Amino acid sequence: MSNIPYKIYLEENELPKAWHNVRAAMKEKPEPFIHPATGNPCVKNDLLPVFCEELVEQELNVSDEFIPIPDEIQDFYRIFRPSPLIRAYFLEKILDTPAKIFYKFEGNNTSGSHKLNSAAAQVFYAKKQGLTSLTTETGAGQWGSALSMACAHFGVELTVYMVKVSSEQKPYRKVLMQTYGANVVPSPSDTTDIGKKILSENPGTGGSLGCAISEAIEAAVKTPNCRYVLGSVLNHVLLHQSIVGLETKAAMEKYGVSPDIIIGCAGGGSNLGGLISPFMADKIRGKNNIEFVAVEPSSCPSLTRGKYSLDFGDTGKTTPLIKMYTLGSGFIPSPNHAGGLRYHGMSPIVSKLYHDGYINAKSYNQSEVFDAAAKFAKCEGILPAPESAHAIKGAIDAALKCKESGESKVILFGLTGTGYFDMSAYQGYLEGKMSDYTPSDEDLQKGFDSLPDGS
Ligand SMILES: *Cc1c(COP(=O)(O)O)cnc(C)c1O
Repeated sequence: MSNIPYKIYLEENELPKAWHNVRAAMKEKPEPFIHPATGNPCVKNDLLPVFCEELVEQELNVSDEFIPIPDEIQDFYRIFRPSPLIRAYFLEKILDTPAKIFYKFEGNNTSGSHKLNSAAAQVFYAKKQGLTSLTTETGAGQWGSALSMACAHFGVELTVYMVKVSSEQKPYRKVLMQTYGANVVPSPSDTTDIGKKILSENPGTGGSLGCAISEAIEAAVKTPNCRYVLGSVLNHVLLHQSIVGLETKAAMEKYGVSPDIIIGCAGGGSNLGGLISPFMADKIRGKNNIEFVAVEPSSCPSLTRGKYSLDFGDTGKTTPLIKMYTLGSGFIPSPNHAGGLRYHGMSPIVSKLYHDGYINAKSYNQSEVFDAAAKFAKCEGILPAPESAHAIKGAIDAALKCKESGESKVILFGLTGTGYFDMSAYQGYLEGKMSDYTPSDEDLQKGFDSLPDGS
């Protein structure tokens, strides 16, 4: 394994031509969305007013393991894909570990994260359906940036509801989106009924992803020829992100390596779900024994302390009910710097796999996560997004465990993005002003009280 280059690329003809749908391999499928009014599983017609038709098909498809990637999307992918798979030789050396560490780096495009993989697909299908505009929410700003880029490329108008605290913490994210032509509205806002209601109940709130989703859905439903798009959580988003896992698997096989541990940060579960997708299918079929680890912030512990329950995807309770690990749609997390991980719920696919014991989960507080980020930046050179740094922390801990036991395991983690827009967070960290906030059981109970079954 010593002849592995620092950076492994696939050739253009080795790029995946189809996405991987892990649900086809799952023995028990994630539970379908439930219509809150009828209590019945949602069918295609229930979802069409909100989402593009092709995405609804993908959302409900539990049987086709491979779904072809249209040529136009493959062409756009070629601008920034394949993403590099990097052997973290320098990190291994600093940790003095016998483990072999690899990371798949998704920060090599201007939007700065893996989110462009799904943005490209979603905007292409919207355009193909003849839609003229889209709405969405963004927390940390990465999804909004990715979608702005894709909308500019394919020629679709976009309104982004940006969580108010994030728009204040990261003003240049807003400018980036505006440069690509997007209309950016801090949320909660007075441009929607639900925004006005949230503002009147919680004046001065910094907002949350859940609020911003409610506003974006309301705006989409009220605007002709417009639909809502979401950057994480949903099954079709994980499907698009499987490009990450497929490339990684192909690149590792090229060098005869296979991972023992795969680690990803988990906000809504899309990068983790995408990275593990083809490896998980093999595991379910008994072809490997990989350990999968989801890493989340202690301040928003959906998997490690949440409930596996039916819940709404948004604060305004306008979405279908989703069976997932959740802190309750009423949970408003503390202003942690990893904005992309501040979501109350979790992908139903990742939730089901976790519930069935295929995935483990860990949580860390933000100062230890930033320690890991700084350590990584100093030796590997890449400045990680705070979200990605959760996976780095998980990988460092796994590598140090190998040092104790003397095992030379192969550790793979997802480095989902860069942290150039997170300078105020890094500044706070360097000045020793970073606080750690872990919700008490009572804090969590308030969120659980908002669950529809009252559990
Ligand atoms: C959005 C985001 C995440 C978290 O979202 P997932 O859907 O859980 O992947 C992680 N890292 C970065 C850089 C992000 O932008």
